[in-house]
Amino acid sequence: MPRYDFRCRSCGATFELRRTMAQANDPAVCPEGHPDTVKLLSTVAVTGAAGAGAAPQAASGGGCCGGGCCG
Ligand SMILES: [Zn+2]
Repeated sequence: MPRYDFRCRSCGATFELRRTMAQANDPAVCPEGHPDTVKLLSTVAVTGAAGAGAAPQAASGGGCCGGGCCG
């Protein structure tokens, strides 16, 4: 079951809940009982926010103008 992180906007606490994807957007209540919470990005969706290794492959090879089809 996926795990979702939430943060309480009332007291600033962060907490996590395990719930089904169908429940992912349901409101979550802070352990302190505050209903004003926001869902944080889940760990599943994190893609290298701190890494810099995404770009270098774009300029070589493929694509129309690199492969001879337009020139
Ligand atoms: Zn709270």
